[in-house]
Amino acid sequence: MTKSNDDRLPDPGIENAYSQLNRAFRNGKTRDPGWRKQQLQQLEKLLRENESAILEALKADLGKSETEAWTSEIGYLLADIKHTLRHLQSWAELRPVSTPIAAQPGRSYLLPEPLGTVLIIGAWNYPLQLVLAPFIAALAAGNCAVLKPSEMAPACSALLAELIPQYMDEQAVAVVEGGKEVSQALLALKWDHIFYTGGEVVGKIVMSAAAQYLTPVTLELGGKSPCLVDEQSDIAIAARRIVWGKWMNCGQTCIAPDYVLVASSVADELVVALRQEIENQYGKTPINSIDYGRIVNASHFQRLSKLLDEMQIVAGGETDETRLKIAPTIVLNPSYDSDLMQQEIFGPILPVLTVEDMAEACDIVVTRPKPLALYLFTQNDKTEASVLAKTSAGSVCVNDTMMFMANQKLPFGGVGTSGMGRYHGQYGFDTFSHLKSVMHRSTKMDVKVRYAPYSSWKLWL
Ligand code: NAD
Repeated sequence: MTKSNDDRLPDPGIENAYSQLNRAFRNGKTRDPGWRKQQLQQLEKLLRENESAILEALKADLGKSETEAWTSEIGYLLADIKHTLRHLQSWAELRPVSTPIAAQPGRSYLLPEPLGTVLIIGAWNYPLQLVLAPFIAALAAGNCAVLKPSEMAPACSALLAELIPQYMDEQAVAVVEGGKEVSQALLALKWDHIFYTGGEVVGKIVMSAAAQYLTPVTLELGGKSPCLVDEQSDIAIAARRIVWGKWMNCGQTCIAPDYVLVASSVADELVVALRQEIENQYGKTPINSIDYGRIVNASHFQRLSKLLDEMQIVAGGETDETRLKIAPTIVLNPSYDSDLMQQEIFGPILPVLTVEDMAEACDIVVTRPKPLALYLFTQNDKTEASVLAKTSAGSVCVNDTMMFMANQKLPFGGVGTSGMGRYHGQYGFDTFSHLKSVMHRSTKMDVKVRYAPYSSWKLWL
């Protein structure tokens, strides 16, 4: 469904599409395992047959390099579909659980059932992955879905609106394009689940809209993900992996390391290694590297440039507003009260702050909102155990950044203000399913003790 000309007015087709999807769910077509499998295969076909159009759209919206676009969007989604197709049957099967003696003879199980018609609202930074990965889970679980891609990645949004109807079952799936007014018009409807990816402020809007109908929500939000570097760590590896995780997509990744807390004894060595790695990965003038993306729009460019005011820049710092480019930039020891250390950066600036040791780093982390991700570089098992025990985060990666995303068996989601609910692999399937409790009792035997009339002797049994 294409965007209405006036973005302030929701597309008049929204309610029609919504009613049609609800009808399709009621008539039961999406429950059919064959339908789910066929839709996932169609989505795979869409991605394979339109690879160059997708790469072009990602280039237009974010200047993403082909390799990055492939690994973090197309390739990622294809792997997700493959994993889902492989396990779909077992995820959808009833899940037996034991039955206590008091309920014998009988058997008990969980029966996954689709929720109904769900709304998926995506963010701009991985404009396909953030809409299509939850969509894969929603389809696998047998739901109808409306996808609302971010208007801030307009080429990707338009491409989804064009391709989805060509490949997918239009009775059960719709794309609605538009900005916040369209999003709010959608949120005013009654959904069976809302899956939202984006910032905290809008997360609250989504949650209060959902509250009106007691609709369950998954909120995939953000925050400042810390990266702790212990003195007992492989600094060269730490620097290489921090540079990869931080500057992919120009730092516009919800799980990018937001700031580094490094033990003072290795701080200088780390900064030198980070500078070297930036050069190794992006060349002598990274701002011109074809592998390095750009800032999504002028207002984010200005926000990020302002964060650099009066900072001690020890790497990068070059900006080019005409191309919306900011070089990979490292800032040393900014004040904890600065905007740089108060806001989620969501861009290519990396503050590096020195601490005495990992105990002090943990003290700093726990005084702040719970992050989406936490990274720790250490070779010391006791330090690892202690950081894991003292801190809370949606996901943790020890001695790397972001790699937990490569494991479909690990759930992905935030904690506290970084979000609620989870997905990826079976966790996504379960998010879009109701696990119905079923107990089947035999009629062959009927112990009458639980029935009235009650008498005190029954309590002793
Ligand atoms: P965004 O501006 O693209 O907004 C996200 C969605 O919300 C869009 O579809 C938009 O149309 C809609 N929206 C915007 N304002 C609205 C309003 N007032 N009412 C209703 N809907 C509205 O994305 P963003 O919020 O700038 O995204 C960046 C944030 O998302 C960061 O905090 C980042 O960490 C987080 N994020 C989280 C994940 C994750 O998986 N946890 C992934 C990507 C981004």
